[in-house]
Amino acid sequence: MVQLTCLSRLLLRRKFLSRSVVSYQNINAAQYAIKIQTTFKFSDLGVQFASPDQLQPKPDVNALQFGKHFTDHMLKIYYHESLGGWQKPQITPMENIALHPGAKVLHYAVELFEGMKAYRGTDGKIRIFRPDLNMDRMNRSAIRLGLPTFNGTELIKCMCRLVSIDREWVPHSEASSLYIRPTLIGIDPSLGVAACDSAMLYVILCPVGSYFDTKSKAISLLADPQYTRAWPGGCGDKKLGSNYGPTIAVQQEASQQGLQQVLWLYGEDHLLTEVGTMNIFMFYINDRGEQELVTPPLDGLILPGITRQSILEISKEWNDFKICERHITMKEVIELTSENRVLEMFGAGTACVVSPVGSISYLGQTLQIPTTEWSTEPLYGRVLRTLTDIQYGRVPHPWAVPIDDYA
Ligand SMILES: *Cc1c(COP(=O)(O)O)cnc(C)c1O
Repeated sequence: MVQLTCLSRLLLRRKFLSRSVVSYQNINAAQYAIKIQTTFKFSDLGVQFASPDQLQPKPDVNALQFGKHFTDHMLKIYYHESLGGWQKPQITPMENIALHPGAKVLHYAVELFEGMKAYRGTDGKIRIFRPDLNMDRMNRSAIRLGLPTFNGTELIKCMCRLVSIDREWVPHSEASSLYIRPTLIGIDPSLGVAACDSAMLYVILCPVGSYFDTKSKAISLLADPQYTRAWPGGCGDKKLGSNYGPTIAVQQEASQQGLQQVLWLYGEDHLLTEVGTMNIFMFYINDRGEQELVTPPLDGLILPGITRQSILEISKEWNDFKICERHITMKEVIELTSENRVLEMFGAGTACVVSPVGSISYLGQTLQIPTTEWSTEPLYGRVLRTLTDIQYGRVPHPWAVPIDDYA
């Protein structure tokens, strides 16, 4: 019944939406079946420990700023076609990397990344969350940039060893965690816009607190339809560095207007796509008077978030409300808010887990969203608690894997 309602709504809506969004979806699915030709191996991993004078002081866990502090070690894996492909993985002291000024990454943004976290649990064990999904997404990004793919399990094992070596950097706090940033860059010293013969995969680690300063406070959004983050046939569904640089000026504009994040819209219907670097969810009362959770479908414009997927899967298990992946227009949000039918909106992603939305500034009006106010037990809070209970090992779950089980 849930599926039927959802599908019929989609079919209804399709009439009003550009056909390209729908047709590109199919092309994407066919084009990106992952093929892994060669890989590096965890069993080849070499480790060079930092000397005592290279060790950095650990920052105060209560004053962590996102991505500002780095741990003592990093993981590096080179790829050189001329040497047979992937080389042996190495853990080294954290250090600068040297690149030829002609390296493709510096000219054509041949770069992709992932965002993961390691959590220190109540039992002292350090866990990572659904890492296989990050590896899958990373390989899909690599294919889109003509960069080499690899066996995800081998990288997970190497990363777990890295986290294990720097384990004292995983904060002893359940409000904090260790952010893991796998990165893959094309490093050929040649200016042709062509596939890379040389690449470098590296992983760096940052202890982090909460992503936003205004923790647990609802955030304000700027929704300006003149800006677009992603488009049909583009790369919005891949974690490529080139998707993020151009968003900085728009984020600055939001800040200048006293707003915290950007709500990215797309197309004539001003479809809601994402909020900042998070997937967006709306919890509302549908036309049948039922509570329903909606999020935009993976139509090529949306980054397939692991938090998004986990929220959908957990909600289906709860079976307490309707769930629908479908397009949401600003017109609909305005109508629903005027009828007091929007209960909550929240962003979801690894960095912040869940971030409640309080208002949207859109074409001169401000829509108030009662996310943190309508209930003493809001859905975003339940989702946040459920996910963090799993991540910090308070509730045992196969999604949270102790790093010692890998390496
Ligand atoms: C990384 C990211 C997300 C969230 O993905 P998770 O896997 O949940 O961390 C959502 N939207 C964008 C644009 C992103 O870059």
